[in-house]
Amino acid sequence: MNAPWRLSAGEIARLVARREVSAEEVVRSHLDRIDAVEPRVDAFLQRLPERALERARRLDAELAAGRPAPPLCGVPVAVKDLLDVQGTATTCGSRILEGYEPPFTATAVARLEAAGAVVLGKTNMDEFAMGSSTENSAYKPTRNPWDPGRVPGGSSGGSAAAVAARMAPLALGSDTGGSIRQPAALCGVVGLKPTYGRVSRYGLVAFASSLDQVGPLCRSVADAALACSVLFGRDTRDATSADVEVGDLPGAIHGGAAGVRLGVPWAFLERGVEAGVLASFEQALGVLESCGATLVDVELPHGPHAIATYYLVATAEASSNLARYDGVRYGRRQGDARELRGMYGETRDRGFGSEVKRRIILGTFVLSSGYYDAYYVRAQKVRTLIRSDFEAAFGSCDVIATPTTPTPAFRLGEKTADPLQMYLADVFTVPANLAGIPGLSVPCAPVSGLPVGLQLLGRPFDEATLFAVGHAFQQATAHHQAEPIP
Ligand code: GLN
Repeated sequence: MNAPWRLSAGEIARLVARREVSAEEVVRSHLDRIDAVEPRVDAFLQRLPERALERARRLDAELAAGRPAPPLCGVPVAVKDLLDVQGTATTCGSRILEGYEPPFTATAVARLEAAGAVVLGKTNMDEFAMGSSTENSAYKPTRNPWDPGRVPGGSSGGSAAAVAARMAPLALGSDTGGSIRQPAALCGVVGLKPTYGRVSRYGLVAFASSLDQVGPLCRSVADAALACSVLFGRDTRDATSADVEVGDLPGAIHGGAAGVRLGVPWAFLERGVEAGVLASFEQALGVLESCGATLVDVELPHGPHAIATYYLVATAEASSNLARYDGVRYGRRQGDARELRGMYGETRDRGFGSEVKRRIILGTFVLSSGYYDAYYVRAQKVRTLIRSDFEAAFGSCDVIATPTTPTPAFRLGEKTADPLQMYLADVFTVPANLAGIPGLSVPCAPVSGLPVGLQLLGRPFDEATLFAVGHAFQQATAHHQAEPIP
């Protein structure tokens, strides 16, 4: 048997269920792996070794006593630090939440734990999930396991790097405009943003509530489907969670790509894809054709407006969501508590980093009475046009393919001085959030030794087809098996 840290989530669950390896051995192996490689990667904000070992031992005891094995039996998982885990801190990568311990566990985490998964720790992220490089974390940047001089992507950069460096076979992230798919692509792992409403947002700290979705990062589409079979489904604690049949997702991966009509929005792709990324994308299309998919041309005429639209909608919602951090209800307080406005001001000034402040100011501006119609209302109208583009495109295809990002991982510090440059990293991921549709990123051929992703977008609630096509691609390629740190 391989060292447990090299196993997939599915393999771990199978072996632990058969009691060929104990959950404790699996967790210890991952904790040792974290000790060995974390100094090079800095993926975690908080490690929870005692909690993890205790849970693993309890699981082993339950299995020994005859409890039927749950589907993620003994699978270690890393959790982005904006999902609450009761009894541990949630920081969201921000100073303003320092010292905050949530009194509940996020539904997504609770479902994984109930299915036998074991939380290893909380992963680094851009502050309040605002960013594309994890450099906006108030604590430290995370480094790309493929090249420590480069970013892992963001905002779920800690989760993506942890999976790529084999510190966890599975991690949770959140995706508001690409924060699961973009770091997954830049670290060479699989990432899924589910359909809006598929996964409960209860216990997920809100960034932009009409766009946020929780989803898995892992190494194979098979593991993503396994995790989603546990994560998906209605939760009475989140009124936006959808009551839509989940179906047999682990079974759906075997559907294959034969007969699937793959739409490619060529005109949209002309907008600044690096040559190497385009070549990798075209090669991936060739692989899918050889698996039996047919290529069709589709148009996304409003795609070029997606970034501008996203940064109006997301900042407007963020400015409202972040109003609650006032030094009274959560985390840290600064200034003289007898002088209310001054205390609010000082807490927020010292607690938030500059990207978060930029977005609160922009969001407040676009919602202000004089500008609301010109910016916010117009952005909502364009959002509707973007959604209609997808509806029209899905009339002639089943899945839409694009590169996940226009470039491979950039250097640490390369884009921090120019936020607009950073925003462009999201050009191919934000449309799916605006439309509410699912998106899967799967590693395709690397560009100069750096991973990039193939993005597959599907109809609302049709993750099953994405899994079928993504799994067919992984059966035909080995990109996802490459290990950045031996
Ligand atoms: N990079 C985008 C942003 O900065 C998306 C972030 C996300 O999906 N959380 O807003």
